[in-house]
Amino acid sequence: MTKILAITNQKGGVGKTTTSINLAASLAASGRRILLVDLDPQGNATMGSGVNKNNLTQTIYHVLLGSQTISAVLNTSEFGKYDLIPANRNLAGAEVEMIDLDKREARLKIALDEVEGVYDYILIDCPPALNILTLNGLCAAHAVIIPMQCEYYALEGLSDLVNTIKKVRGKFNHTLRIEGLLRTMFDPRNILAQQVSDQLKQHFGDKVYKTIIPRNIRLAEAPGFGKPVMVHDKMSKGAQAYLAFAKEILEATK
Ligand code: ATP
Ligand code: MG
Repeated sequence: MTKILAITNQKGGVGKTTTSINLAASLAASGRRILLVDLDPQGNATMGSGVNKNNLTQTIYHVLLGSQTISAVLNTSEFGKYDLIPANRNLAGAEVEMIDLDKREARLKIALDEVEGVYDYILIDCPPALNILTLNGLCAAHAVIIPMQCEYYALEGLSDLVNTIKKVRGKFNHTLRIEGLLRTMFDPRNILAQQVSDQLKQHFGDKVYKTIIPRNIRLAEAPGFGKPVMVHDKMSKGAQAYLAFAKEILEATK
């Protein structure tokens, strides 16, 4: 069975896309068949996968609006060895255009039925908002991975997200779960980060992944080359952390 994971946090710049790309590539490196869905009009997961968002005529936008199928818009990340459903700024218009559509929260879920069983994992890179795009991600997913930075306002934002997930569970996707929380851009010398991390473990217990993603310059550089970090610099701390994270995911979801 295909396991569908939404990578989401309405807070911007917390490492959703970095996690999506590098988890996709790390899982692919261990022989899993992976599809990454870019659900963000910024198209960062697309560019970071080495696909130029500006040259695309067919994207996830066309899938959500019903004019294309998943297989018709499929791209591949040459360096990452995973398949990609790309996005670009067209997608920003989808919210308004989807208003009159039937079952507008379930468009992605229904479209992904076409590739059920083709992949071991489908990862969905959500935009930094609790909008109809994110709602489509949450309705399509079996579970949610929440990347977060351990800083002052992180816990507050987290309770909004947890409430949203509860509402989605009640109304649309009864089995949606939080798969886990991933601490990103972590600096162990930062005392506040340590404190927030401790609070996180108190609140969420073993939902907090053991793997911690450190702040690492190689992770920030890699998307500029359209490569996952393990191709850009395999021995870097960032690459090693995401490879360890993929192992933890494989262990938890087997
Ligand atoms: P958005 O909400 O805009 O979609 P995001 O949550 O997807 O953002 P990213 O784009 O993954 O976040 O990361 C934000 C910025 O931080 C990017 O420039 C990225 O390269 C950088 N970054 C992410 N993780 C790390 C890390 N562990 N170490 C250093 N830089 C990082
Ligand atoms: Mg992003």
